[in-house]
Amino acid sequence: MMNPAMRVTADEERVVRAWSVLGQVLDPEVPALSVCDLGIVRDVRPQGDGVEVVLTPTYSGCPATEVIERSVVEAIELAGLGPVTVTLQRAPAWTTDWISDEGRRKLREYGIAPPSGSAAVAAEQPIRILRREPALECPRCGSVNTERLSAFGSTACKALYRCIACKEPFEYFKPI
Ligand SMILES: [Zn+2]
Repeated sequence: MMNPAMRVTADEERVVRAWSVLGQVLDPEVPALSVCDLGIVRDVRPQGDGVEVVLTPTYSGCPATEVIERSVVEAIELAGLGPVTVTLQRAPAWTTDWISDEGRRKLREYGIAPPSGSAAVAAEQPIRILRREPALECPRCGSVNTERLSAFGSTACKALYRCIACKEPFEYFKPI
């Protein structure tokens, strides 16, 4: 019979390993970000000999959720941490505020302006809250001399902008 203390350790180790596997599962629409960077993995719990992964889907309009769910199951099983159950938790709704600092850095590197968090906008930029569109920083050169070209980029989650300083177009991950 397994010692209960050993059982806890095995469960904890499996959960830690599952988090690290999930850190390698990339978002299909923003391949620069893992599902952990995106903040959609809300919890990983031991379940029987496997794990339960709790996901909060991003935009309801994004068709990516099923793809993400499948990738999560495959990655966990491949790592030998299965069986895995994915539980979708829709409340509270996902917000771009959940994107990690690491995720924001990766977005900029990928040439996408990270979403300005609603909390951050209210606290740091009280004047901009009065404007419909925040002044966006170009992810390439850092200039705030940018203009919006289209409300939609390659996906509905993003808007298309252009930097007037370096002339490069870039996408903006819209905050929700
Ligand atoms: Zn620029």
